[in-house]
Amino acid sequence: MQLTVLGSSSAGNGYVIQSETEALILETGVGLIAAKKALDFNIAKVAGCLISHVHGDHAKYAIDYSQVFQTYAPASVIAMKSLEGATEVLPLVRFQTGRFTVLPFPGHHDVPCMGYIVSHPEMGNLMFLTDSFMCEYSFKGLNHVMLECNYTDKALEYAIDNGHTQAWEKRRLMTTHMELQTTKKVLLNQDLSGVNTITLIHMSGRNSDKNEIIAGLSGISGKPIVIADKGLTIDLNLSPY
Ligand SMILES: [Zn+2]
Repeated sequence: MQLTVLGSSSAGNGYVIQSETEALILETGVGLIAAKKALDFNIAKVAGCLISHVHGDHAKYAIDYSQVFQTYAPASVIAMKSLEGATEVLPLVRFQTGRFTVLPFPGHHDVPCMGYIVSHPEMGNLMFLTDSFMCEYSFKGLNHVMLECNYTDKALEYAIDNGHTQAWEKRRLMTTHMELQTTKKVLLNQDLSGVNTITLIHMSGRNSDKNEIIAGLSGISGKPIVIADKGLTIDLNLSPY
């Protein structure tokens, strides 16, 4: 199983998880053509498409995706984006799509937002959470983590001092997106003993510092921590060695 990052920022979020014969799409904030290219146009293998919340950088193209793929999203996304035929996801109610099993869990954003534990026999258990300023869950048996690290307090203060970020944005960020120290705490709160990959997603260009983030999280699992740059591919197999 392989992850392809179509985009991972406020400019648009989209991820494709795929093997030769099966695929799952996470988020619809990047145009459908990018997903089709990542799939090498084999759209028949897509078992489903998951959406976390209604904001444009995650759901701008939801209607396009929902017309092609079985789409799963919170009720607010289905209603606001008029997604006919999409399936509502409910907190902690597990469902199956193809050979993927999905457990939605609530995040903490300024609109309803869902994280997902995605499981597949070849991938194991993947935790996906974005646009959430905290996470109270502690999951066992994880093999892969895709977790938001949106900003750092230090980089945010610098951006405000230098006029790159407005002071009023600070309060919104603090109650909607995950800061480095929270990302660290959330990771430490998980069972990382079987984790092969940790991918940091939805990083702010203005309010973060990649070096500070990598240094701040180094040694947390003994596995390299990767930042989800657009175009990156990551091996998500259960046993990569
Ligand atoms: Zn959002």
